[in-house]
Amino acid sequence: MSAPILDDYKNVVGEESILQLRRLAEPLAGRSVVHVNSTRYGGGVAEILEWLIALMNDSGLIASWEVIEGEGSFFTATKKIHNALQGFHEDFDEDDKRAYEEVQHNNAEELREKLEEADFVFIHDPQPAGLLGLCPNRKGTWIWRCHIDASRPFRPVWKFLEPKVEEYDASIFSMPQFARSLNHPQFLIAPSINPLSDKNMSLPESEVEGVIGEFELDPERPILTQVSRFDRFKDPVGVISAYSQINTQPKPQLVLAGGGAADDPEGAAVLAEVKEAADGDPDIHILDLPPDAHRKINALQRASNVIIQKSTREGFGLTVTEGMWKAKPVIGGNVGGICLQVHNFQTGFLVNSPEGAAMRIRYLLEHPKLRNRMGGTAHVFVRDNFLLTRHLREYLTLMVTMDRGNSRRVIDL
Ligand code: UDP
Repeated sequence: MSAPILDDYKNVVGEESILQLRRLAEPLAGRSVVHVNSTRYGGGVAEILEWLIALMNDSGLIASWEVIEGEGSFFTATKKIHNALQGFHEDFDEDDKRAYEEVQHNNAEELREKLEEADFVFIHDPQPAGLLGLCPNRKGTWIWRCHIDASRPFRPVWKFLEPKVEEYDASIFSMPQFARSLNHPQFLIAPSINPLSDKNMSLPESEVEGVIGEFELDPERPILTQVSRFDRFKDPVGVISAYSQINTQPKPQLVLAGGGAADDPEGAAVLAEVKEAADGDPDIHILDLPPDAHRKINALQRASNVIIQKSTREGFGLTVTEGMWKAKPVIGGNVGGICLQVHNFQTGFLVNSPEGAAMRIRYLLEHPKLRNRMGGTAHVFVRDNFLLTRHLREYLTLMVTMDRGNSRRVIDL
């Protein structure tokens, strides 16, 4: 879709909400905002930034998006940081630290002028977190936005990152459990989906049918889908294990749709593990999709009877939100931001093992009425809590708050 404007959302959230957003943005008119992350494609952060920035611009701010550049050794190091923040014991050595610092310096050379001049800088995740220390003449407010489950980080790696993060004026986490003990205000803002994007807009039935045909799925049998980067924390092998324990008739089909993110070096290895676990089963469809396959993912989610996101760690899980928006119940790993979205017997089921996932999937396949009712509840829950307009409102509120000075406490927006 082309760059969205606020008025596009009147039909989804009502005129009053849009007016409220415009009023909230008034004191921020003309202020410059720069978001920095490490990939323009793939993964939830890139998915969010594209839309959030467009709406910030339509609200009267001057918002832009910068992506830091790095080599393989940098992304290997930052993937270790990512894994370690989510609790994994990583060997983060001197070479990793060097690769990390070198990329911060190189990118600071490119971005310093712009970042130092900006009124607000949002640095997303650990990859560019070191930029603040290299912009000594910054004049604006700098905020670190952590999208991952950092509730129980592997300490040696957190100790490396913590002094960099401490320097920020504030940080944002997706849920209270993730907030760290930091000497600055911490805001709680959940992510969101864009209901009008190619990924989430309603599609003609013929397009959904076309995608079912394209991927050689049988329209007469149930479809179970997990959309995810091929990442071990998403547990695609666990999904295959759950699938192999389902013996309902007609036999369901499993879709594991994924692709790489430019800043994720582990994707190819995990994809190979997934193929091995599938062991040539013709009913397991492993789809390695290009980064712009949004409408196809949309169609696959719509064609599914049940959406799965069996993560073992998850910052939020936009794929859960996307599935729920399409009125599908979700089987989600009982972790992180999935717990904000999936509520047992309401919007889906939280599970702790492949066995648990198999049991709940069987139950949903055997109870189509309940499945539909839960899907309807899921859609309304997303409409009320996880759409882009709510997300924008909370960012605007944060900026207005930080502009006026602030108190040092956790602020749940
Ligand atoms: N996604 C995609 N193509 C893929 C895999 C994922 O477009 O092959 C999208 C997915 O639809 C969702 C986002 O990437 O919008 C993933 O966000 P999520 O929060 O679920 O996980 P993350 O990748 O950020 O850990």
